[in-house]
Amino acid sequence: MAQRLTTCTFCGVGCGIYMETAGNRVVGAYPSMSHPANAGRICLRGWHVHEVASSPDRLKQPLLRKAGQLQEVTWEEALHFIADRLQDIRRKHGPDSIAFLNSPRCSNEETYLLQKLARAVIGTNNVDHGAGVYCNNSINVLLDMIGVPASTNPIAELAQSEVIVVDGVDLGRQLPTIGGWVIRAKLKGARLIVIDTRRHRVAESADLFLQIKPGTEVLLYGAMAKIIVDRGLMNLPFIKARCRDYEAFLAQVEDYDLLQVAEICGVPAGLIEEAALTYARAGAAALLYSTGIEARRKNSIQAIINLALLTGNLGKTGAGLFPLTEHNNLQGVCDMGMLPDRLPGYQPVSTPAARAALEPVWKAKLPATPGLGARALLADRGQGRVKAFWLCRYDPVSTAFFGDAANSLKQCDLVVVQHLFATDTAQYAHVVLPTTAFGEERVSFTSTERRIQLAEQVIDPPPGPMPAWQQLTRLAQTLGADWDYTSAGAVMEEIGQTIPFYSGANYDNLAREYGRQWPCTKDRPLGTRLLFAEGAGEQPFKFVPVPRPPPAAAGLNGFPFTMVFGHSLYYWHQNVLIKHSETLKREYRLLLLDYPDGFVEINTDDAKQLGIRDGGKIRLSAAGGSAVSTARVTPEVRSGTILAPYFVRQLEKQILGTNEHGDSLVPVRVEKEAA
Ligand code: SF4
Repeated sequence: MAQRLTTCTFCGVGCGIYMETAGNRVVGAYPSMSHPANAGRICLRGWHVHEVASSPDRLKQPLLRKAGQLQEVTWEEALHFIADRLQDIRRKHGPDSIAFLNSPRCSNEETYLLQKLARAVIGTNNVDHGAGVYCNNSINVLLDMIGVPASTNPIAELAQSEVIVVDGVDLGRQLPTIGGWVIRAKLKGARLIVIDTRRHRVAESADLFLQIKPGTEVLLYGAMAKIIVDRGLMNLPFIKARCRDYEAFLAQVEDYDLLQVAEICGVPAGLIEEAALTYARAGAAALLYSTGIEARRKNSIQAIINLALLTGNLGKTGAGLFPLTEHNNLQGVCDMGMLPDRLPGYQPVSTPAARAALEPVWKAKLPATPGLGARALLADRGQGRVKAFWLCRYDPVSTAFFGDAANSLKQCDLVVVQHLFATDTAQYAHVVLPTTAFGEERVSFTSTERRIQLAEQVIDPPPGPMPAWQQLTRLAQTLGADWDYTSAGAVMEEIGQTIPFYSGANYDNLAREYGRQWPCTKDRPLGTRLLFAEGAGEQPFKFVPVPRPPPAAAGLNGFPFTMVFGHSLYYWHQNVLIKHSETLKREYRLLLLDYPDGFVEINTDDAKQLGIRDGGKIRLSAAGGSAVSTARVTPEVRSGTILAPYFVRQLEKQILGTNEHGDSLVPVRVEKEAA
């Protein structure tokens, strides 16, 4: 038996785990006691994440569509076919007729090469990742207000927080190890404030639980800010020394009336007041919020950051902002520039100096116009302009959030899918390229606490699949580019040259201890645990005045309920990894014994009033369509709210139908469906 320390690649916590191998087989996984993110704890998914590699459903050879059927071919044939087709499409329709999308599960190295292929070899900024539609608001707001699009403090510092606010994220289901840190801090005396529509497990332990109406967070934060200002609890020395635009913010705060806000949010005024005073009086208060499907609009994130600035909760131990990234490499794919308008390191594509810095390294002239994002690309191929898609570990057909992705793919001249499995999306591919799995390659990921760390190779891949970074290198060479990467480590060397805050992150350095938190630079090779310890960055922090939103009409257009999308433990994102892990699949099936066709959650009192029983049929009608599902009756969800587990595709399709903006809050009418 042999053991090796590696990183769990399931969610954004990036727990340290040991993989135990016998011969060329992983026989077990167990937690690292001293890894800073998990300190000896992992969740069910971490114990079984390695099972995916041994799934019998793995793709074994490249597949090429011939006479309508996907057939096994050699790597040579597949790559030459793709190169010829790409060149042909670019010649006929221009570089912007080709688009590149990936999953926020992709490694840093394959993401970096994918966007480099798009920009430097093909000549387009049509690049995005699957979670961009939810999290890019948070990136842009953080960059604008504090200059860094990431968590400011390490996860382990939650143990030193006096107050922890958890907003809109079900930690127990989504990021369980962080949920554990929060509960342990609470047991040691920290005050816990939870703001959510759902009474989840962490909410059950809260000192203050603000069960808010969906979509009203801006008002809540505005009212909290006003209470803090009225009581004179703002941190004026911090504001004076480190912030700008305070006066404009102050003028806007006047518009928030506590009693009105309490009524609109559905939260008692006294509770809002107590939450505001608790947060403001803490010596160190941490604020955790979701950047996932539950993510709110831009103004709600601005309101959150304003509160942290107002109370000076940045740059000190146990405080800070935690924009939580649920996918294991959501932070990394954004850092790597898998964004239609930003290059690696978040430099805007439209800034000449940013392109000029990259061009000599990439030996190419870079396109200056921002590309299209995933939604525009998948909904209607950018009004029909896109003729080819490259999809790396990404399965957009399994969700309806982007409109009818299958229909868009059907109309393309080329669809290339890189994946471990024959996904729903692979059914529309012209070429499918099998990738290596977790444990079969040495690559890096960046966790939600900015920790760049290695996932180690512990076994040899089966014959056939190839690391995605290597597939991209070989394709670029076939297209005539002089790419000469011989390992993922060599790709990281170039990442270090192009992203200043990764300049010290070579594999030798990352292999020591437990990775490094960025900025990890040549001058600071050990990385940076706490941001802003020495003050604001290059610019002062910026307050943004957030106008008070008008109250939404109750019972809008006869749709009195609000449907929200969220997580159920075994409906985790697209389930690809769960479906291919024997143990997790079994657990998933156990849940489906009760609800074999999936379910939506409805509040116990609402269900009683409508005569709906647990396990009974329920009809949901929205402006965009209607659907029948099974009711899971629970006191967890707020009255007036329906929770649909993310990725119950049929439901999304029928309900979201014409919801072209992909809003994750949908007004619906709810009725009992006759059996
Ligand atoms: S919390 Fe996330 S990273 Fe940690 S073991 Fe669970 S799935 Fe893996």
